[in-house]
Amino acid sequence: WAKEDGKARWTLFDPERNAHRMTRQALSSTLRPAVERDEFVLDYQPLVGLGDGVVRGVEALVRWDHPQFGRLSPNRFIPLAEENGAIVPLGRWVLRTACRQARVWQLANPTHPLVVSVNVAVRQVWDSDLVADVGTILAETGLPPHLLQLELTESAVMGSTGRPLQALQRLSDMGVPIAIDDFGTGYSNLAYLSRLPVSTLKLDGSFVQGFRAEEHPNPADETIVEALVQLAHRLGLTVTAECVESAEQAERLRRIGCDTGQGWFYSRPVPPDRIQTMITCPASG
Ligand code: C2E
Ligand code: MG
Ligand code: MG
Ligand code: MG
Repeated sequence: WAKEDGKARWTLFDPERNAHRMTRQALSSTLRPAVERDEFVLDYQPLVGLGDGVVRGVEALVRWDHPQFGRLSPNRFIPLAEENGAIVPLGRWVLRTACRQARVWQLANPTHPLVVSVNVAVRQVWDSDLVADVGTILAETGLPPHLLQLELTESAVMGSTGRPLQALQRLSDMGVPIAIDDFGTGYSNLAYLSRLPVSTLKLDGSFVQGFRAEEHPNPADETIVEALVQLAHRLGLTVTAECVESAEQAERLRRIGCDTGQGWFYSRPVPPDRIQTMITCPASG
């Protein structure tokens, strides 16, 4: 059929595309063994109180130290892991590693409790017993449930019925707070969310980026964020802003009443020892 369609043949043999497809394939098929070979690492990014600048928690973000391709960002392999189910063992590894680390921080800084926030993919709720895994890992590490937070995306919880809703309810009953990640990118329904056992909204970075330019502030964006924050507070939710990149953005978010911020303005995601330094010497963090 290559004769009939020159374009298709070109696409089929495009070396760059082919290399890309082969890389995807190679990554996808080696995810599971890579978990066993311990090729993943976690970086942690601070979640900072907008009022006082105190580090309240950290988000655990996974990276793959690939023997051939070097350090890979999660956008390269999390979608593949969700596709082929490797997210289940990988997610379990992330949860265990983050909880162990959080317990180390708790013991080292008894007066400065840090919450560790862990991303959870929908498939972990559907294809595995997330509730049992969390229970086992908390018991094994000794981390109190309130020092773990689970981040789920809107699409993972919207329309939740049956098993996922039950899982959220049981996690919340265990004392593990639930956050909605990238809030505002899906089809948001705060009224619905407020009936779920959710305690925090993480406002998607696009909201904050909307009022980036100092010379062209967009009052509409700020008004929307302010209204969202007020509504969230009245529903008993706390609000974290993602992608805070400047002092100006942090100040506007603080004035609007946002509770915590996360972003390059405070810190990039860093290895765990850097977090300990930030707790011990906040000024030099
Ligand atoms: P996310 O959960 O929304 O995490 C925030 C992402 O924004 C991180 O990207 C972080 O490095 C980036 N970021 C933080 N501050 C700023 C900023 O000021 N400006 C900008 N432009 N970006 C900022 P990262 O580490 O590449 O992770 C990407 C996504 O991969 C995460 O988005 C999350 O959805 C997923 N992910 C990461 N780790 C895990 C994991 O352990 N499990 C699962 N299921 N997903 C994960
Ligand atoms: Mg997240
Ligand atoms: Mg997010
Ligand atoms: Mg995001």
